[in-house]
Amino acid sequence: IIKMHNIHKSFNGISVLKGIDIEVNKSDVLAVIGPSGSGKSTLLRCLNNLETIDDGTIQVAEDFLTTSVNNKAVYADKITQKRILSRMGMVFQQFNLFPHMTVLENLLEAPVQVKNMKKDEVLPIAEDLLHKIGLFDKKDAYPSRLSGGQQQRVAIARALCMSPDIMLFDEPTSALDPELTIGVLNTMRQLAEEHMTMIVVTHEMGFARDVASNVIFMADGNIVEQGNPETFFTHPQEERTKSFLTNML
Ligand code: ATP
Ligand code: MG
Repeated sequence: IIKMHNIHKSFNGISVLKGIDIEVNKSDVLAVIGPSGSGKSTLLRCLNNLETIDDGTIQVAEDFLTTSVNNKAVYADKITQKRILSRMGMVFQQFNLFPHMTVLENLLEAPVQVKNMKKDEVLPIAEDLLHKIGLFDKKDAYPSRLSGGQQQRVAIARALCMSPDIMLFDEPTSALDPELTIGVLNTMRQLAEEHMTMIVVTHEMGFARDVASNVIFMADGNIVEQGNPETFFTHPQEERTKSFLTNML
């Protein structure tokens, strides 16, 4: 459902992605791990069109966000870009909820504003999602009244309310205390069990090992190693992967 080929991206002449290839099939859970500054967030942001790439092709379902012409990325028209974006939900490290809206209003906002759905149409979907994450009783609360873990689960529900085909997570638990992390990871695990296609940048090796169908290790803008979690975690091939994993465990 996602193909990224030969992705190049630099900031001010400094190369941050040096020819990344990624393929994600429907219902895959791809875990992306690697040291700070290796380009993990940039990769997600390029896929989600928050950054433009310099060269490479990005395909989401049948649409091409970019094609490569003479070693330069050429972007699709705005309509295609919009269609691609509407397929993807993103959850960041910081929860990014609208502080002046209740939990329920946070969920309703995008479907109503962006998809022009009627409030009555979205309401059952939103309430259903709140039940699912166990926060229905908080629907009228403002985000500041929730714990970080609860806010992050609401952020996930808010992204799901747009009915995405793909969910992108950028270290969704790294701002959370360990006990709050568990609830968020369980929500993500549940999503995976429901066959959501996911790309998850994470430092949670246990989660990557248990839930991912494929793991990618990035360093210095390159994919150093990838494989199924079983092989990846028990028999890493590259020295850089080995030392990274040793430091993580
Ligand atoms: P972390 O684990 O710390 O989140 P990361 O793997 O997500 O790291 P990125 O955020 O993708 O790393 O950053 C990769 C490199 O690109 C870093 O050297 C960073 O300083 C640089 N970079 C990222 N965004 C920008 C930007 N908007 N302008 C300039 N440099 C940037
Ligand atoms: Mg990052």
